[in-house]
Amino acid sequence: MKRDDLTGFAMGGNKGRKLEYLLGEALESGADLVVTCGSIQSNFVRQLGAACAVAGLRCIASSMALPYEDAPATGTRLKDSGGNVLLNDLCGLEMEVMPDGTWEEMYAAAEAIAVREESKGHRVYRVPIGGSSARGAYGFVKAAEEIPHFDWIVFASSSGSTHTGLQYFFQGTTTQVLGIACDPEPEIANDFAELAHDLDALLGTDKHLRPTDFKLDFRFVGDGYGTYGESTLGAIRKMARTEGIFLDPIYSGKAFEGLLQLAKEGTIAGKVLFWHTGGLPALFAM
Ligand SMILES: *Cc1c(COP(=O)(O)O)cnc(C)c1O
Repeated sequence: MKRDDLTGFAMGGNKGRKLEYLLGEALESGADLVVTCGSIQSNFVRQLGAACAVAGLRCIASSMALPYEDAPATGTRLKDSGGNVLLNDLCGLEMEVMPDGTWEEMYAAAEAIAVREESKGHRVYRVPIGGSSARGAYGFVKAAEEIPHFDWIVFASSSGSTHTGLQYFFQGTTTQVLGIACDPEPEIANDFAELAHDLDALLGTDKHLRPTDFKLDFRFVGDGYGTYGESTLGAIRKMARTEGIFLDPIYSGKAFEGLLQLAKEGTIAGKVLFWHTGGLPALFAM
């Protein structure tokens, strides 16, 4: 297991790796304000808020309890207090919470905040959802250098920079990179390929990853993004009761649920790495 739940900064998780590069760019750009968006229990928003506080930057996030594509997910949702919301408040992050709506409405609200603040004279650095820009993905190209050879790497995949960075590094090798999708939309593979093209541009390389280069298993999303059900809770309990390691209900719990099923089916075999992406504060909003 790769313990990115123990990356350390602001209660750990995979987002710290992206922030290393995103905050560097924010400071280099001369920004005094960072604007992003995310669901109300977003782990990225929490780690970004803490990183901005340390770097002396103001941070605003547009947020919804549970953004959706066509209709709200029907599974059990997290509370809109406690967990990451509590930590955001402690770091001084400014949350602008709007009624539930679509992802597009939440992105538009973040852009409106950025424009509003620019008109007041602020210099704004915009961060896409989950920190999934080319620089964010670069954090995971570098992360891949830390591990010895594995036949399979299994982890939770959502906004895409974790998956894209790992696939970018392992493309053309014998290591299979498999994301357990935490979002139900099959089109996310197209977004990941676009992100990989942005990485090509950033690094001056020519990997040209295609959507079909990204292995995604959508069977463990459950009732939709940001919700969880009994099968995910079963996987969380199994890990807790065999290893004393905690998983979260929205991402890493679903990833481990997928890993157990794929091993049972014989789809994955040999040396398998479970990349624990963190998310633990969400346990305290269940
Ligand atoms: C954000 C997140 C993921 C997904 O990572 P992406 O790079 O957005 O795909 C997985 N696990 C946890 C705990 C997360 O917070």
